[in-house]
Amino acid sequence: MKIKKADLEKVAVHREQYPEEDLFEFAFAGRSNVGKSSFINAMLNRKKLAKTSSTPGKTRTINFYRVNDDLRLVDLPGYGYAKVSKVEKNSWSKIINEYLENRENLLEVILLVDIRHEPTAQDLQMFEYLMAKGYSGIVVATKADKISKGHYEKHINIIAKKLKIKNKDMIIPFSSENKEMVDEMWEIFEDIVRY
Ligand code: GDP
Repeated sequence: MKIKKADLEKVAVHREQYPEEDLFEFAFAGRSNVGKSSFINAMLNRKKLAKTSSTPGKTRTINFYRVNDDLRLVDLPGYGYAKVSKVEKNSWSKIINEYLENRENLLEVILLVDIRHEPTAQDLQMFEYLMAKGYSGIVVATKADKISKGHYEKHINIIAKKLKIKNKDMIIPFSSENKEMVDEMWEIFEDIVRY
């Protein structure tokens, strides 16, 4: 897809702060530091629209990126940052649940995992929740440039096993660094919108 226009439309915590339900949304979940902001920047062909940070776990907001006045990419707060308190963890799950449970225009939620590492128990929990909610089960395996292509299969098998994914085509190796799979991801999103 040609990106003619992309803006951070809204930063929200609670439902009353979300933008209107007037455009379809694709949301992205994953642990902090997995590469969510970088993924969004790569998809939007912007260097710094989504903030990437070296201090993971800071973002506790839902960021709505409006694309071509046509759809939104939604960055959900990253989970699994070890140094946060129980209270913070609860507030994280409240924020994320409120969005996932109430959003009529939400078309798809995509899990991001680091291609190099076995998904965590929290990744599995999130993935199972998404499957139970009827989403397609697309998984983006980030930072693919950090391993050689010859090793993709081995890593994808590890991810598939942990998340109990039968169709390995659902796991998409992606690199924000090399812009690998950006066009293909847009094709997938456009197919979902059409369907
Ligand atoms: P977030 O916390 O999930 O939003 O993660 P960020 O997008 O901020 O990325 C976390 C770190 O991983 C940053 O240092 C990024 O530069 C790095 N990173 C993210 N995506 C890639 C990628 O595709 N390739 C490489 N080599 N590094 C990446």
